[in-house]
Amino acid sequence: MSETEKPLNFIERIIRDDLEQGAVKQITTRFPPEPNGYLHIGHAKSICLNFGLARDFGGTCNLRFDDTNPAKEEVEYVESIKRDVQWLGFQWDGDIRFTSDYFDQLHEWAVHLIKEGKAFVCDLSAEEMREYRGGLTEAGKDSPYKTRTVEENLELFEKMRLGEFDEGACALRVKVDMASPNMHMRDPVIYRIKKASHHQTGDKWCIYPSYDYAHGQSDALEGITHSVCTLEFEEHRPLYEWFIENLPVPATPHQYEFSRLEVNYTVTSKRKLKQLVDENHVDGWDDPRMPTVSGMRRRGFTPASIREFCDMVGVTKVKGVVDMGMLEFAIREDLNKNASRAMCVLHPLKVTLTNYPEGQAETMVAPGHPQRDDFPEREMPFTRELWIDQDDFRESANKKYKRLVIGKRVRLRNSYVIEADECVKDADDNIIEVKARIIENTVGNNPEDGIKPKGVIHWVSADQNVNCEVRLYDRLFTDIAPDAGGKDFLECINPDSLEVLSGCKAEMSLANSGIEDRFQFEREGYFVQDSKFSNPDALVFNRVISLRDTWGK
Ligand code: ATP
Ligand code: MG
Repeated sequence: MSETEKPLNFIERIIRDDLEQGAVKQITTRFPPEPNGYLHIGHAKSICLNFGLARDFGGTCNLRFDDTNPAKEEVEYVESIKRDVQWLGFQWDGDIRFTSDYFDQLHEWAVHLIKEGKAFVCDLSAEEMREYRGGLTEAGKDSPYKTRTVEENLELFEKMRLGEFDEGACALRVKVDMASPNMHMRDPVIYRIKKASHHQTGDKWCIYPSYDYAHGQSDALEGITHSVCTLEFEEHRPLYEWFIENLPVPATPHQYEFSRLEVNYTVTSKRKLKQLVDENHVDGWDDPRMPTVSGMRRRGFTPASIREFCDMVGVTKVKGVVDMGMLEFAIREDLNKNASRAMCVLHPLKVTLTNYPEGQAETMVAPGHPQRDDFPEREMPFTRELWIDQDDFRESANKKYKRLVIGKRVRLRNSYVIEADECVKDADDNIIEVKARIIENTVGNNPEDGIKPKGVIHWVSADQNVNCEVRLYDRLFTDIAPDAGGKDFLECINPDSLEVLSGCKAEMSLANSGIEDRFQFEREGYFVQDSKFSNPDALVFNRVISLRDTWGK
């Protein structure tokens, strides 16, 4: 199933028509993040869309940091965003761009609007401005400062720029229409005083353009043909177009809106994600439970699975919430096809094979992947003492339990059939060891006496294995909509979203695995070496996802 066979989404149809009709020769899109947090799954959708359009229609896509609010922005975020975009498999055209690259031009155009009599310096306080703006059912009133002369406005705006006024003392507004039913058109502010250092322009500016003013003009300066954004900007579009019509811009970009990606069982507001980080509910923006791109990366998601998920969701104008299970399905499918197999015992219980000589070892061979021969075979030492999982042994059990039971047989995966004779307990009655026997000639064969084992369990040699830590992650929230209906999302945090198991025993092939190598630990799920905590002397594996979806149950 190739991407090109899928029906085009509505934006792709618009672009196809624009190209066919010659309205544009080549498309240029952009991804415009504000560097005030890490990217999340919603941004991934916007990235896949914008970069995907450029790729599919032979155009280009810019990465532009929308950096008009210095107070909340940081270089750390700029760097993480670049890393995440590339990790997702995309490359921007040319250098990265910043809205702040255009501050001179934006300022010049603001002066142009003043000279045309279309902008004025307004001294109303924020609260007064709100009163004058009116409401949905009542028209607004003109600011008393709207009648200032061009000369006066030029002088005041220059004083604003030179830092002669305090923050909030005045602002530059455009004269659009105080009676417009669209509140965004009621003489919006385009420049505010903010005496903050900027991560790109330092102290050059103490006035900063509004998003609405900066965005479309930046699009025009970059020759963006299709400016794609989320639905909440639909109401801003008339203003976007007003600026393009009223300024001598070098191009006329168009804005198109699609619905935001919302995923259940999580939150995708940067403010809330930042709160989780700042209040230490998680281990940073890249905590493997976070819906951030860096969190999903550390969790073991592949770029391909995230792209596939975004593709499955599609691009529409319909608002809706996507099931987290769909994202989990995408990664499970990918890893089922592409992760090598391995055995790792999470809760070790010793098995001593009383009829297997001490000091003897033989090498068992297992495929790297059951359906693929491009994965190297694995070799596993088999010895008298083994580890199996505590869950795979019971002293007695009914027929439904198809694992090891005293007096019964089980197959050790890729190895012998064994039969348990007795178990050893400690003073607290905990089972600490099982004594069992191998059944001769059963590697690759059923027992000659015809008594077949009922089940297969995984195991690891107790002499030669890799000691490791395993981190079992689950969904971060137990509530299907943690931030809906006035709930406190912090109270919906899943208290069992992380379980740390130490002293786990993995097969030797994992000794040489690297950061971000992914595996299916047979019968346990999909795992990845943690990029933060793992090192060659102390391997740490994160559970990416369980083998089956257990949330729907
Ligand atoms: P947040 O609400 O999380 O703070 P934002 O829209 O303020 O997100 P930006 O950095 O401005 O964050 O977003 C960059 C781009 O990503 C914008 O074009 C925005 O429309 C898009 N985007 C943000 N969130 C989503 C989402 N949930 N689904 C799809 N696109 C999104
Ligand atoms: Mg935004």
